[in-house]
This record gives sequence, C-alpha cells and structure tokens, in this order.
Amino acid sequence: MTSTLKPHYSAVVIGGGQAGLSASHYLKKHGIDHVVFEKKTVAHKWKDERWDAFCLVTPNWQCQLPDHPYDGDDPHGFMVKDEIIAYVDRFIKRVNAPVLEGTAVISVEKNGDLFKVETSAGTVTADSVILATSLYSRPAIPRAAERLPEEIVQLHTVDYRNPNQLPEGAVVVVGSGQSGCQIAEDLHLAGRKVHMVTGNAPRCARFYRGRDVVDWLSDVGQYDITVEHDGMTKKKHDTNHYLTGRDGGRDIDLRKFALEGMSLYGRMVGVSGGRMIFEPNLKANLDGADRVYNGINALIDRHIAEKSIDAPPASVYTPLWEPENEPEELDLKAEDVTSVIWATGFHPDWSYVGLPIFDGTGYPVQRRGVTGIDGVYVLGLPWLWTWGSGRFLAVGKDAEHVVDHLAGYLEAGQPALRQAASR
Ligand SMILES: Cc1cc2nc3c(=O)[nH]c(=O)nc-3n(C[C@H](O)[C@H](O)[C@H](O)COP(=O)(O)OP(=O)(O)OC[C@H]3O[C@@H](n4cnc5c(N)ncnc54)[C@H](O)[C@@H]3O)c2cc1C
Repeated sequence: MTSTLKPHYSAVVIGGGQAGLSASHYLKKHGIDHVVFEKKTVAHKWKDERWDAFCLVTPNWQCQLPDHPYDGDDPHGFMVKDEIIAYVDRFIKRVNAPVLEGTAVISVEKNGDLFKVETSAGTVTADSVILATSLYSRPAIPRAAERLPEEIVQLHTVDYRNPNQLPEGAVVVVGSGQSGCQIAEDLHLAGRKVHMVTGNAPRCARFYRGRDVVDWLSDVGQYDITVEHDGMTKKKHDTNHYLTGRDGGRDIDLRKFALEGMSLYGRMVGVSGGRMIFEPNLKANLDGADRVYNGINALIDRHIAEKSIDAPPASVYTPLWEPENEPEELDLKAEDVTSVIWATGFHPDWSYVGLPIFDGTGYPVQRRGVTGIDGVYVLGLPWLWTWGSGRFLAVGKDAEHVVDHLAGYLEAGQPALRQAASR
C-alpha cells in the first residue's frame, strides 16, 4: 500500500526493512495511524545487497516474522536468495504497510510534545517515532583502501555477486565474519585463488551430535537469553559466528581451505607500497575461532548429559592445519591480486536522529526498544533484547513489545491533544 503524505501521524516508522514492516504490522493491529518512510524500496537489502549464492545461515524454522512463520516443507533447510526474497515479499503483501518508498528521513527532532520529521517529500509531525534503520546502513571500508594500487578492483560485500564479476587473477577477502567466509568459500569453490585476511570472528559447527547446532542451542534456551543476563550487555558489538547454510549446511573451516590452497593471514593493519600488511595473529585468530566452536559443542554435551539424551558420541575439533609462520605482508602485484573484497562490516547511520538517545558507542540506550525519550523507539538491532532481535527469529516479538508500549503511551499521554490545548 503506497501512502500519501499527511501533515500529522500518531506514529512514524523510519525504515521499511523487516523491522519497520513488523512495527507496521502491529501498529495496524492496534489501529494506530502511521506511515513508514523508506528511502529506497521495502526490504530491498535482501534483493540488492546479497550475492547470488547467498543463503540463510539460520535454519528456515527460525524465520518467524510476525504472523508469517516459515511454512515450507524444509524447516531445517536454509532458504537460498530467491526463496528468502519470496518469503519477504509474501510478508510485504501480508502487512500491506502504509509506506512511502523513495522517501528519506533527513531529520527527527523533538518539537514540544511532538516530533518534527523532515523527509525528502516534506515535513510532518508525529506523536511517536520508531527508528528501524538497522546497524547495517553504510559499508565500513578501512581508509587503507585508498592506498591500494588503482588497477585493483575493490568491492564491499554488498556489491559482490559472483566470481565471474571479478577480473581474472587472485582475490583478497578482508574479514572473516560470516559474509567474508562465505564469499571466500564461493570464490574458492569456483577455483579462484583466494587470500583470506582473518579477524577475531568466532565460528560454530553446523551439525553436532546428530542435529543442527541451532536446534540444540534452541533447546538449551540460548535464544531466550536476554541482554539483561549477566555478561550479555556487550554482545551487541560481537562479530557473528562463521558457518554456512549452503548445500544443506556445513561448517566453514579455514584450515581446510588452507590445505586446499587458500592463503591465510592475520588482521590487516595497512597498505603500503603495493603490499598489504598484517598483524602476526593468524594462529591466534584460528585458535580463537576453534575455541568458540569447541566451547559451543561442550555446552551441547553438558545439555545432552544432563537430560540423558540418546545422541551420537561427543567429539572435539582438532586443527587440520597449522600456519608454518605468520605472514606479515602480501605483495599484491607479485601474487597477481586483481581484486579485493572488503568484508569489513557496516556503520550505522543515525545522522538523521536529532535526539539524545545514544551511548558512547553509537548504540541507542534503550530497554527492549523503548528509549529514555517518551515516544521514541528503536527496532531490529542485534541484541536489542535477544540474539534474534536483529534477525528473522525475534524482530517480530520485539516489534509487538514496542508497539504495545507505544499504544499505551499514546493512550495515556495524548500528546497531540495536550499540545493543541496549550496553544
Ligand atoms: C550478509 C547478511 C546475512 C544475514 N543472514 C541472516 C540469516 O541467515 N538469518 C537471519 O535471520 N538474519 C540474517 N541477517 C540479519 C538480518 O535479518 C538483516 O540484517 C535484516 O535485513 C535487518 O532488517 P532491518 O529491517 O532491521 O534493517 P534493514 O533491512 O537494514 O532495513 C532498514 C531500512 O531502512 C532504510 N533507511 C535507512 N535510513 C533511512 C532514512 N534515513 N530514511 C528512510 N529510510 C531509511 C533502508 O533503506 C533500509 O531499507 C543477515 C544480515 C546480513 C547483512
């Protein structure tokens, strides 16, 4: 449903991804008049910012958008890109949100009891605002990129599609989070020479003791743990574990790739004179990822023992390969490197938010999406409340909570009426 601009709304939702649409779903249920401003097109990231071989890392059963759970015949499979887009498109249709696409919010400010929302299509006022623009707004590319030789093709993961898009020659993938590892695998499987620059991302087994690790972790209660549990508050800045859902799901083991010809390096510290320079921490990065892998499996072992579950035997991952040395630089020309893929994450873009809601790290201060400013809410961020808050699994539950709170706020405060009365 495309909306036309009105001068005032009870609620303005900023961002038309799955979080903004989930908010709209519940606002409609409450009968709250609202608009969703989306600067591009709804849920466009699944279409525009994923590579061709992309598939979910989370199993299909974890797709739990509100009133739109996965209902296909492969709950333990991993939807590929087109299937994800179809799943999201059905959600878009179901919600039928009052959305204004191609409308960027330029600023949100408090104006008495109301909020003034300036957009590329005009200015409106609102009694409440829901910020649903995610932490994945702008590709994060280190400034060292500026010092790469001009002839090298550089892409961020959002622009990577497939190996054929890159010129012949070797590829450097910088960053070993989920995207970096999956893209490195994509290139490796296509027979490309890959130089993989690792960071401190953890990894996780796909299957362990007869089941998907996600299924075990769900039974253990891992996805119900909230950010308020001890030790969880810093989780929101953690890098995701690397593993894949490709071809029915499997581990990603960089040591195995090394045995097959992939070159691995420690963290990149810079580029100088046509060389990429690395910290000597490759071994530490690989060991750290495996420690987490084994730690998660040990958690599952404890659960199986406590519940006396009949399951295949326990095992501990032992490294298939160890680096002989710590490579400290890569001569790009000598190694025929023709492209570099920056798998270095994203920056949020809260520049439109003229409200004092952020902590020192740029993350909004909030409790399950409810900020300290009456009428201001956030949605869809990793660990907003639980692990699933920034994913298909739990964004809907958070949206329901946020909209229930917002509805209560509108009912109790009636800010627009108060403002009118005071004029
Ligand atoms: C590579 C990758 C793989 C992932 N894999 C999985 C997975 O396997 N399983 C899973 O559950 N989740 C996965 N996720 C996480 C998650 O599901 C997505 O990040 C999800 O798209 C976040 O949805 P969102 O609505 O919060 O934000 P986004 O999808 O980022 O939507 C925000 C919207 O806000 C718009 N916007 C931004 N600024 C403005 C503005 N000023 N005015 C108007 N509009 C604005 C943007 O155009 C965008 O459409 C993955 C994420 C990535 C990046």
